[in-house]
Amino acid sequence: MAKIYERIAVIGCGLIGSSVVRAAREAGAVGEIMVFDASDHVRQRVRDLGLADHVADTAADAVKGCDLVLFGTPVLAVGEAMNAAASALEPGATVTDVGSAKGVIAEALNGAAPKGVFVIPGHPIAGTEHSGPDAGLAEMFENRWVILTPNDDASPDYQAAVERLSQFWRALGAQVDTMDVKHHDLVLAVTSHLPHLIAYNIVGTAADLENVTQTEVMKYSAGGFRDFTRIAASDPTMWRDIFIANKDAVLEILGRFTEDLQALSRAIRWSEADKLHDIFTRTREIRRGIIALGQESPEPNFGRDRGKH
Ligand code: NAP
Repeated sequence: MAKIYERIAVIGCGLIGSSVVRAAREAGAVGEIMVFDASDHVRQRVRDLGLADHVADTAADAVKGCDLVLFGTPVLAVGEAMNAAASALEPGATVTDVGSAKGVIAEALNGAAPKGVFVIPGHPIAGTEHSGPDAGLAEMFENRWVILTPNDDASPDYQAAVERLSQFWRALGAQVDTMDVKHHDLVLAVTSHLPHLIAYNIVGTAADLENVTQTEVMKYSAGGFRDFTRIAASDPTMWRDIFIANKDAVLEILGRFTEDLQALSRAIRWSEADKLHDIFTRTREIRRGIIALGQESPEPNFGRDRGKH
């Protein structure tokens, strides 16, 4: 395959960053790969695994001469990482990221980008509940969606940069969609953020029950609860950042959810069998729709859900 970028920098090389590195290398989509990570341990692992051509000691060193810079840090660290890199960005370079909430990131990247740099935030809907460079997979993005949230710059140069970044993700096996930042954050609040909140809450509730022992919770954790525990094992830093960064959309969806839960609770209280049956039939259709779209994971994780993060 023809190279899409000559030299890329991945700043923050954990699960998703290292998956980008692996997939880009395997696809032959890039020339050189530079990596910087704030963690000494991660930088050493990236060296040991031979993932990058060069592991830099600072973000600025990593991005020099790169035509693509991708931030793979937790959502609320993207701003700081961009500030550290900004002065070394070359005009004509594209800056993107993989964060699960786009509003705060788009603001931070656009605010710090020097003139002539194309900011195109992005979010691969792919992932697992694991973290770090050892957990990355070259096939992470295959048949997954990547949502780009470009700004409203209609100039041919910016549009060409969006097309080039789309080509890059397609080379990694993904399908690409573009969306307005606010709409992205609302959609993901429903499809990913609220489900994670529910999982964190239900596992917490089970852990706090006084008349059911911890051993019973683990021993009798049939399908439903077991799936929730897997989701609730997702990285605490990542999810702390997502809920803070996307609080408006999450709270809006949580309000709707709470109303629907009250309606369900009422239907149960009054033994409204038909109503319950109707609701459960409708939700079954959504499940079938996901399978029909090929977005069901053979893997035991929510995101693929390989990532609805
Ligand atoms: P991860 O495995 O924890 O990797 C993040 C890495 O970024 C860590 O090594 C972290 O180092 C490093 N880092 C933190 N601050 C930094 C900074 N200022 N400069 C450079 N490196 C920094 O996390 P991940 O799961 O790959 O998630 C990364 C991003 O992808 C998040 O924004 C998340 O929302 C998004 N995402 C995740 C998934 C998923 O399934 N995990 C799916 C889609 C999108 P320390 O450990 O020392 O902090």
